[in-house]
Amino acid sequence: MTQRREIVIQGTVQGVGFRPFVHALAAELGLGGFVLNRSGGVRIEIEGDEPQLEHFLRRVVADAPPLARIESLVWSAVPPRGESVFRIEESDLAGAGPVAVAADAAVCDDCLRELFDPGDRRFGYPFLNCTNCGPRLTIVTGAPYDRARTTMAGFAMCPECRTEYENPADRRFHAQPTACPVCGPRLSVLDEAGAVLACADPIGFVAAAIREGKIAAMKGLGGYHLVCAAGDAAAVARLRRRKQRDDKPFAVMVGDLAGAGELCIVTEAEGRLLTSRRRPIVLLRRRADAALPEEIAPHNPLLGLMLPYTPLHYLLTRAVDNAPLVMTSGNRSDEPIAIDEADAVARLGGIADLFLAHNRPIHVRCDDSVTRVIGGVETPIRRSRGYAPEALAMPWSMGVPTLAVGGQLKNTFALGSGRRAILSHHLGDLDHYQAFRAFTRDITLYEQLFSLTPACIVHDLHPDYASTVYARQRAAKEGLRAIAVQHHHAHMASCMAEHGLTERVIGVTFDGTGYGTDGAIWGGEFLVGDYRGFDRAAHFRYLPMPGGEQAARHPWRMAAAYLMDAGAACDPFEGRQDIAALRNIRKMIERHFNCPMTSSVGRLFDAIASLIGIRDSVTFEGQAAMQLQWLASHENPDTAYPFTLHNPDPATQIDVRPMIAAVVQDVGTGVPAARIARRFHCTLVEIIAGVCGTLRTTTQLNTVVLSGGVFMNSLLAAQTRLRLDHEGFRVYSHTAVPTNDGGLCLGQLAVAANV
Ligand code: ZN
Ligand code: ZN
Ligand code: FE
Repeated sequence: MTQRREIVIQGTVQGVGFRPFVHALAAELGLGGFVLNRSGGVRIEIEGDEPQLEHFLRRVVADAPPLARIESLVWSAVPPRGESVFRIEESDLAGAGPVAVAADAAVCDDCLRELFDPGDRRFGYPFLNCTNCGPRLTIVTGAPYDRARTTMAGFAMCPECRTEYENPADRRFHAQPTACPVCGPRLSVLDEAGAVLACADPIGFVAAAIREGKIAAMKGLGGYHLVCAAGDAAAVARLRRRKQRDDKPFAVMVGDLAGAGELCIVTEAEGRLLTSRRRPIVLLRRRADAALPEEIAPHNPLLGLMLPYTPLHYLLTRAVDNAPLVMTSGNRSDEPIAIDEADAVARLGGIADLFLAHNRPIHVRCDDSVTRVIGGVETPIRRSRGYAPEALAMPWSMGVPTLAVGGQLKNTFALGSGRRAILSHHLGDLDHYQAFRAFTRDITLYEQLFSLTPACIVHDLHPDYASTVYARQRAAKEGLRAIAVQHHHAHMASCMAEHGLTERVIGVTFDGTGYGTDGAIWGGEFLVGDYRGFDRAAHFRYLPMPGGEQAARHPWRMAAAYLMDAGAACDPFEGRQDIAALRNIRKMIERHFNCPMTSSVGRLFDAIASLIGIRDSVTFEGQAAMQLQWLASHENPDTAYPFTLHNPDPATQIDVRPMIAAVVQDVGTGVPAARIARRFHCTLVEIIAGVCGTLRTTTQLNTVVLSGGVFMNSLLAAQTRLRLDHEGFRVYSHTAVPTNDGGLCLGQLAVAANV
């Protein structure tokens, strides 16, 4: 019997080839009706026999186009109209809201075939794309998403491209960034001073320069990359020196999965991530025989690999015969990456020998995403290109549209509306003015794109974060509600939100720095609570941080503080540190001069690294902790050092003075650094297990969430999980957003939704 159904689908279903897909599916199943775009989704009316309709409902979800993201599907029965033909209707203009823009997607197989097909009119064309692939977020300038509001606006489609674009049966139907060699963007080569070089084959020219050991700056999807031959030790060393990047690892692009397998051990799950349309940098275990110079990632057992993701990357990797390429962000040290030619030449001029540029502007700066697999599960480190602005589903509904502005470093922001959390790309370190400018501009852009006007702004408790200042000023100016969320509460809530937890939990939140409710620098916290609030149930004993921020850059300062605190007589810095400097630091500590108090576990890692002589200063955050972890990984689990738990009201204090004394003794008796590093990890696991055990007794809670940057340490994370599992706890860690400050905004939304 003939029936008719009205189906409303919400999500990212516009501009991704959804209507042609629905059309083809309906035709295949012999159903009549229509599909049209409407606010936030599509509306379908479909008519035919019931079994076919059921078929349609199943397949419209299961077989949706690759870039489509279905968030909800609701259907209802309506009276049949006797239609047997299916058609695509013009948009329901009255109700047509903004079109949700998709994340940038790697070039698809169909486009790749054209790229390398000498008979195709787009053969060798570095900017080809289609409805299923290509740039999205990085080129969008406003809402609604259509070509006029992308950086493709300046390129008038040629008749052939226009015909494809308008034909529902074509795979480029409504592909907003579509282009061809006749009408689209073009490559150019610039010399180190930015002068255009006459060049018939830009890719061949740059590939030849790279082969000769030159460093190129190449305009990618979300910004410039610095590129050189990864196998060329001299070129890599030169790049490192020019970029003023001491030890931070460089990412490497390999031509294909087989190329990745030559350098690293690649599991099936890791292979899936590498080849996914998101194309993140995946951290992999480097093969002992990998033919790469040590300078790529000094002292690092891991290597960040990615596969080509734009046609341009494919052409370049083929032009160097798939030789691995260093592909690192186009910036000096930690500044935001360059996105336009003038900026690139100005800032990268002293680094790059030549530029591979093009005339399709990048509007949204978008760094490569970084991820890895731990225990078979993806554990993101930086969620940016290919992921943003994809929404996460939340376990509750926001009362009002809300903006969460995140933290200060590794900044991301989020917009919350209904049950959706729309997470931004990586904005980086807001200390940099360019990053802060992008932060304010891209918030506005996201609000337009998703047609959301926040009624509430959530920010970190830290009064001096640039994001906090922005939030407060904007809230005051626009009369919005402002909510401050304590840093570690946000970390905990972020992990809870990811897993849809609504019960009270024990939150183990360890990181480098977060502003506490008492004004001290927190970072080794056991919180008990939920989204609505928390008790600080336990924390590491406060220690002075001599010189504040300087102490984070110079781990030996923290080591000195721990030694004094523990009353340890020895001087492990003998011969390494200037006596006068050491005396100065000791004086600062005695007099409490410029010594903020901290419970940070990140700083404890620093201190241990210095005590055992592996690192007295760092060039990037987390460096000492990473080295300590790798060192420890070589050793089998060992005994833990002693520690004590004091139970004054209201919070248990974790006292590691006995551990410091024991470490000093081990150093003195020549115990290998690796074994000390391992014992230190074991001690942290014991501390976590001990405190959680006590808290379970007092609170009856059995759920533990692990969050904060310290849990980037996969050894600590895995050992902690193993131990807590063994103790019968339910343990959760991050799998959707980073455990570092890049995940804060989700937790801020979670708290705001529940106050
Ligand atoms: Zn494609
Ligand atoms: Zn064209
Ligand atoms: Fe943090």
